[in-house]
Amino acid sequence: MELSKRAQQIKPSSTLAITAKAGELRAAGKDVVSFSAGEPDFDTPAHICEAGIAAIHNGDTRYTPAAGTVELRKAICKKLKEDNGLDYEPAQIVVSNGAKHALSNAFLAILDEGDEVIIPAPFWLSYSAMVEIAGGKPVLVYTKKENNFMLTREELESVYTEKTKAIVVTTPSNPTGMIASMEDLQVVAQFAMEKDLFVISDEIYEKLIYNKEKKHISIASLGKEIYDRTIVINGVSKSYAMTGWRIGYSACAPALAKAISSIQSHMTSNPNSIAQKAVVAALNGPQDCVEEMRKEFEKRCDYIYEREEAIPLISALKPEGAFYLFVDISKTIGKSYRGETIQSAADFAKLILEHELVALVPCSDFGMPDYVRLSYAISMESIQKGMDRMERFVKELQ
Ligand code: PMP
Ligand code: GLU
Repeated sequence: MELSKRAQQIKPSSTLAITAKAGELRAAGKDVVSFSAGEPDFDTPAHICEAGIAAIHNGDTRYTPAAGTVELRKAICKKLKEDNGLDYEPAQIVVSNGAKHALSNAFLAILDEGDEVIIPAPFWLSYSAMVEIAGGKPVLVYTKKENNFMLTREELESVYTEKTKAIVVTTPSNPTGMIASMEDLQVVAQFAMEKDLFVISDEIYEKLIYNKEKKHISIASLGKEIYDRTIVINGVSKSYAMTGWRIGYSACAPALAKAISSIQSHMTSNPNSIAQKAVVAALNGPQDCVEEMRKEFEKRCDYIYEREEAIPLISALKPEGAFYLFVDISKTIGKSYRGETIQSAADFAKLILEHELVALVPCSDFGMPDYVRLSYAISMESIQKGMDRMERFVKELQ
């Protein structure tokens, strides 16, 4: 008996696989420094946890509406208005099991078999898998470092076909850490309007910004027409250190939100009722916890970038947001480490894990095989230790 073609073409998420591998080594007593998963190391703020505990005691333990409680959808509308200048009604919001699920639902709701989705590379690896699972075709377009890895009009034109249905925008970006400017977003918005396309706007890192000259802009705020075409994706995993609670959401035009909610109602019913209560507390409660975490990430960002810059053969753009350092290792290709030649970022990652116990993500699955990604959502002490090891590793290359 054969598995479906769809199942056969999907590989497991390598970010999660590398994180699991680092965890196994650690469990076996090895002193691994893991720059792998993009997951804040902070605990969920206490007042949010308390709201979750209260939800259990108060009997908020039953099914909720498939799209999430009205209370939470109202809190999300308020957040989208205050932070992003976007007007939505609760009927336009669908709360899902993490932003990952919100994205998967969105692709299922807009794609027919063979429809194409433009994904600017480097890209967070799950987009292409999610498009394929929904029967669509991911179309990668390679952005350039000199453009801060932002899309240009020419690049969009070079991949557009009659089958193009949507464009993915991620700002701040995983893995590059770059933030789209108003001009960058206008290029995409203009193109989407001319060609009648949807825009999937993943804004999950919006609160994590370090470049004082940049601010987060939602592409949906650029005008009525682009608002109607955009599915805004967001969640609480990164900004409130709530990865395990699994709450994300989408905001879009009413008919599309209804379709997304119908799909979800059959596939998973509603997201967890207790987590929904906790997220109400996160969104409506004090926001200083978000700023405290951001400040800590900023310190780490400055430090890891400075350390990376002092290492020969590798280079990176200074991250503007999110919590990733995207490192060009192309100059190490062809060099050897204790007799083993580095032919790709995967070799680099394998060797540094084996010999220096540093876990990082090779970016072949992100569309950039000459890069590795380092998540700095780990303690300063671990970053220091990891960068000492990385420096030693690169200096030993011949
Ligand atoms: N979008 C991006 C760009 C991400 O890096 C992540 C991290 N997993 C997600 C969405 C999904 O986050 P979650 O499902 O935890 O809300
Ligand atoms: N988004 C994070 C990352 O890129 C978490 C792992 C995942 O879901 O891919 O590492």
